[in-house]
Amino acid sequence: MPLPQVVAVAEHSPAERGGVLAGDELRSINGQVPRDVIEYQLLADEPIVDLEVVRGGIELEVTVQKQAGEPLGLEISAAIFDRVRTCDNHCEFCFIYQLPKGMRRSLYLKDDDYRLSFLYGNFTTLTRFTEADLERVVDENLSPLYVSIHATDPEVRSRMLRNRRGAMSLRWLRALLDNGIEVHGQVVVCPGLNDAAVLYGTLAGVLDRFPELSTLAVVPLGVSRYSKEAAMRPHTTDEARATLETVHEWQGLFRRALGRRVVWASDEYYLLAGMQFPEASAYEGFAQHENGIGMVRAFEESFATDPAEAGEPSAEGAALPARSGFFAWVEGAPAEGYRAPRTTAVKLGPRRASPKHLPVTILTAPYGEAVLAPLLKANGFGEVRILAVENEFFGGNIAVAGLMTGPDIARALGGDPAPARYLLPDVCLSKGRFLDGSSLGELPVEVEVVPSDGASLRKVLEETR
Ligand code: SF4
Repeated sequence: MPLPQVVAVAEHSPAERGGVLAGDELRSINGQVPRDVIEYQLLADEPIVDLEVVRGGIELEVTVQKQAGEPLGLEISAAIFDRVRTCDNHCEFCFIYQLPKGMRRSLYLKDDDYRLSFLYGNFTTLTRFTEADLERVVDENLSPLYVSIHATDPEVRSRMLRNRRGAMSLRWLRALLDNGIEVHGQVVVCPGLNDAAVLYGTLAGVLDRFPELSTLAVVPLGVSRYSKEAAMRPHTTDEARATLETVHEWQGLFRRALGRRVVWASDEYYLLAGMQFPEASAYEGFAQHENGIGMVRAFEESFATDPAEAGEPSAEGAALPARSGFFAWVEGAPAEGYRAPRTTAVKLGPRRASPKHLPVTILTAPYGEAVLAPLLKANGFGEVRILAVENEFFGGNIAVAGLMTGPDIARALGGDPAPARYLLPDVCLSKGRFLDGSSLGELPVEVEVVPSDGASLRKVLEETR
């Protein structure tokens, strides 16, 4: 395995004082070889940290002295230093099987690693979870974790995961809850497979077997035009409505039994069904915001805040609490997934500039348009134009802003006759690149990137008046 590498050393940090350099490879800390940034963090908490590093092929020892618990001041190249545990399932609905060829290699990685669940909020099915993993999760209090439930009926679950271990692996969920680990769950609903009566039974199963589960997200299957699974299809409007009815009924049952709603349907369901979103307070803190639960209400709340209070760029709504868990205290881990830094710099495209005095046009996906258009009108921004970007890159029923790609945005800009000051939500960028790998600089027109929370958008709109 390649050794983890120091990517950056913070100025005036203990590591800089001790002589650690960017580019150093980390072999051990206090005589131990950390398997991941979680172990790295625990080892680096000591007041005296002996690092064994490899610099230019030469092994060196570096001693760093600091306060106990003080960060070393290093950024490391990877979160997992040994092998990421890949999943041994073959779900019909897996979005990774539905990706076009030629994307970044990391996007094709089917991980099922509880460490990535803890670090980045990735969902794990627990089919590869072991007794040793449980011991570590409990010992190091790796909480919260995120578990894909899909169905509590063992036969349906193993069929959905195409893995016989899927039938029994929810026993680990029981064990995690027994040990006080906070767990959030999700159900990806595939019409004809785990919707309707199966979904009803799953929610009953959660109440019966896993009442300590913190939250459960019910999200619809996404189908791209590359799907080869004939049975996988988008929901009809009636199916979306029926799913919402089931979720709403169970919210009432959970509230009566446990005093909290536990289960929520993703925003996409309300858009599909043409139904009103629940009030913001009904989301009880937006714990699964990143999973598309309550994003619209959180955005509206954030949009209504005083623009002067709009904070620094964030992938989350300004009204949301900071993400809890590991990233409240870890240092060193590279930004991945939800943590990937967004780009706020204005980049010049190669051909047409888009000066600030021009009228504003917001680039977003069809679902974003459906939400933003009435919101802008109701808040006195009816003059702001929205340019909906159809998703031809993935195709199928993909209509969310987070999956917009460079070629689709370029096509929409190229076909837009009116010169405009274009605003683009940062949610479709990771480290300045779109999912297809292209960058802002490859767009035909200058585009201004705005953080995806409502307060930041409002601030920009107010400034243009
Ligand atoms: S568990 Fe997740 S990554 Fe693995 S096949 Fe199923 S959907 Fe894909």
